[in-house]
Amino acid sequence: MLIKEISREECNQVVRAGHVARLACCKEGRPYIVPITYAFAGNCLYFFSMPGRKIEWMRANPNVCLQVEEFFGDRHWKSVLVFGRYQELPPEGQWHREHMHAWTLLERRPNWWEPGGLKPGRRELATCSSHVFFSVDIEEMTGRAAYDAEA
Ligand SMILES: Cc1cc2nc3c(=O)[nH]c(=O)nc-3n(C[C@H](O)[C@H](O)[C@H](O)COP(=O)(O)OP(=O)(O)OC[C@H]3O[C@@H](n4cnc5c(N)ncnc54)[C@H](O)[C@@H]3O)c2cc1C
Repeated sequence: MLIKEISREECNQVVRAGHVARLACCKEGRPYIVPITYAFAGNCLYFFSMPGRKIEWMRANPNVCLQVEEFFGDRHWKSVLVFGRYQELPPEGQWHREHMHAWTLLERRPNWWEPGGLKPGRRELATCSSHVFFSVDIEEMTGRAAYDAEA
């Protein structure tokens, strides 16, 4: 196996092709990571969530890291890390347009709101709750790929 760095355009392709990332945040020196659905447009990733631990932590510390990967068999993969900042997108005020943009992008996937809109044991519609749209402005993106030396 050989490992190589991939270009920003290849990183963009990996992120564009995916829709689930691992989102890592950190508060008071402690890490927290969850899988999460995203939409990618421009220089931002967009998300939908209920209030909870990750939202609370990102409000306290907006610096986040995300990881997305593609696998092509056991020995061929691409992995991208995104470093950026959490930005909450409230429905009113200066973030209204971005809020609607996030909604429009995310709703292209069927049942897009379910994983972020439900909590264990409850089956309430996210539209009835204090749900949150947020974005991550991409500050840095790095990517690596593994491939067979013979290929
Ligand atoms: C494929 C996939 C897509 C998802 N898409 C979204 C999405 O778009 N938006 C979204 O908000 N969430 C999504 N989720 C769910 C997400 O991973 C979290 O479970 C959820 O957002 C709750 O996170 P929270 O920080 O609000 O936890 P809270 O509800 O505050 O839960 C508190 C505690 O529960 C535990 N916990 C929470 N989530 C998980 C988990 N996933 N695995 C194990 N333990 C956990 C942790 O110990 C945490 O401290 C997705 C999950 C998967 C697998």
